[in-house]
Amino acid sequence: MQITALSGGVGGARFVRGLVHELSRRSPGEQVEVTVVGNTGDDITLFGLRVCPDLDSVLYTLGGGVEEEQGWGREGDKHEVMGELAALGVQPQWFGLGDRDLGTHLARSLWLRRGATLSEVTARLAARWGLPEQGVRLLPVTDTPIETHVVVRNDGPGGGAPGDDGAGSGEAAPSGEAAPSGEAAAASDEASGEAAPSGEAAAASDEAGSDGAAPSGEGAASSGAGAAGPSERAIHFQEWWVRHRAAIPAQRFTVAGLSAATPAPGVLEAIRGADVVLLPPSNPVVSIGIILGVPGVRDALRGTRAPVVGVSPLVGGRPVRGHADACLAPLGVEVSAAGVAGLYADLLDGWLVDTADEGASYPARVQVRALDLLMRDVAGAARIAGAALDLADELR
Ligand code: GDP
Ligand code: CA
Repeated sequence: MQITALSGGVGGARFVRGLVHELSRRSPGEQVEVTVVGNTGDDITLFGLRVCPDLDSVLYTLGGGVEEEQGWGREGDKHEVMGELAALGVQPQWFGLGDRDLGTHLARSLWLRRGATLSEVTARLAARWGLPEQGVRLLPVTDTPIETHVVVRNDGPGGGAPGDDGAGSGEAAPSGEAAPSGEAAAASDEASGEAAPSGEAAAASDEAGSDGAAPSGEGAASSGAGAAGPSERAIHFQEWWVRHRAAIPAQRFTVAGLSAATPAPGVLEAIRGADVVLLPPSNPVVSIGIILGVPGVRDALRGTRAPVVGVSPLVGGRPVRGHADACLAPLGVEVSAAGVAGLYADLLDGWLVDTADEGASYPARVQVRALDLLMRDVAGAARIAGAALDLADELR
């Protein structure tokens, strides 16, 4: 049996951990392979190190090393390196990187510099965290560097000149550069307030929504035109999410490097060849939406013979945690389990919603089941994963 799940960070990681528990309970002897396709749009280069927050949440959560409360970073980690960087006046300081967590980023960056692909690097990290022993294979959705950027208005809250609070990343100056440099956020925080062309260039270069390679108007990241206009600027997703807590209204999301990205080895095969495809309760716009935007992935999901069953990340019209509402707003999508189902309507067969959302109207073809969708602990996540497997069985 082959199960494939698409995953962002915390929501996806907790769901997959529950899935692994449920599978070992249900079919102790059976060989079940779980392939997790992880979002890389959150990736960012900080202090010269490549950081992959969503992949790391999956690694640490499955490996038993996660800071459980926050769902990312290493349990009990210290922050002495960041403290020293602060003493040296090195920015940015808004992205927390613990000391042991930095070990991951150092190793990843070293291996990437030596020529390994992100898939290869991720496999090495997965071995360190015991994923193969759990029957789990973690694949980045793409080995091509991509970065989600958020286009915001210059005159809105948090706007203004770059360099004052570091929030600005300079004037939107499209350069036509096709790939993300990865240094957008770090560069934008230079004390000098120097413009960070990489960020804007990358964002501006992205016409993901309109180049035909990515679905237009369906992928979360593909709404609107790609480039930042004259009264707008693009900031790295992490700066918007972590630093500004998504409080600056997003005009739209763009993904630097997306149109030129290709799925990582094994991704399309894992979707096409699966017995079950699961969409965990990950952010529909900046986690699942980015994965679906990688050319070829959405088509593979539409075409797979496996039932595709998803779990709503919204309960009672609100995200359980995080700011998915602020991500759905610029797409004009209702902040509800039904709104999210609508984003997946072309590929979804089954949809789990919370009992609070039972009565809503869902896309016609989709089989909906209602249950308590809160993952309070591993057992709770396992219960939800079990319900997803049951629904997939019904639909097969
Ligand atoms: P991120 O990358 O760390 O933001 O994590 P994901 O994209 O994988 O997941 C974020 C989403 O998980 C948010 O939209 C939350 O609403 C959702 N989420 C978190 N915990 C739960 C839960 O217990 N139940 C459900 N249904 N959704 C959850
Ligand atoms: Ca994420």
